[in-house]
Amino acid sequence: MRTPVVAGNWKMNTTLADATALARAVVDGVDGITGVTTVVCPPAVSLVPVSMALTGSNVFIGAQDVNPNSQGAHTGELSADMLAGLCTYVIVGHSERRSLYGEDDAITAAKARASLGSGLRPIVCVGESLEVRDTGNAASLVASQVKGSLARISDISQVAIAYEPVWAIGTGRAASPEIAQEMASTIRSAVAALYSDEAANGIPILYGGSVNPDNAVSYAASPDVDGALVGGAALDGVAFARIVDAVAASG
Ligand code: PEP
Repeated sequence: MRTPVVAGNWKMNTTLADATALARAVVDGVDGITGVTTVVCPPAVSLVPVSMALTGSNVFIGAQDVNPNSQGAHTGELSADMLAGLCTYVIVGHSERRSLYGEDDAITAAKARASLGSGLRPIVCVGESLEVRDTGNAASLVASQVKGSLARISDISQVAIAYEPVWAIGTGRAASPEIAQEMASTIRSAVAALYSDEAANGIPILYGGSVNPDNAVSYAASPDVDGALVGGAALDGVAFARIVDAVAASG
């Protein structure tokens, strides 16, 4: 039995004060909801105040990125060891990191390895562009991203994978539940081929891309979709809590 995960990616939004207020709203909103792992991923500068706001709650905190190196001359970067004192999760390979900062599967895998090495749980993001979907190559591209982004990781028990089609992120054009299920199943098969059925059946596979309180339930009903990675709707504590509640209710 997999516990679904609903993670909010706040991206480069919220001031320190906004982040603390949003964290408090999430804590209040998800209070009493069971059967779902709730995660918020604020900007790095807000990790400390948000973790304080989450104290005593059932909400976990994650980072939005991590540097794959352990320490040294990497101005502006944060290592997995630095984050490990604060966070449980870390997002790696988000499509914005891939498209805006040139990060590929190899860098994503290096970040995932560094995260695991420091006891963090990586949420490894994969997903095809519209062009790839339109040419009928989404499944093969995503399977190859899974393989590349998990390179040289021997134990994936602490890994979550997020299927986030690039065309659905921040566009309001969410993937249909059928596409989300089909691609989550593709991902689980790719993981089974790389590891084992047991390993593949144990990991959460999230859907991300314009998830909102109204459509969340349709993804939650899909057998291979184990929660959501949420961008825009995660900036509204009430909306985010409604998504967590929808996932919990369908569990
Ligand atoms: C995301 O950026 O991971 C995301 C899914 O964004 P949105 O929910 O806004 O589409």
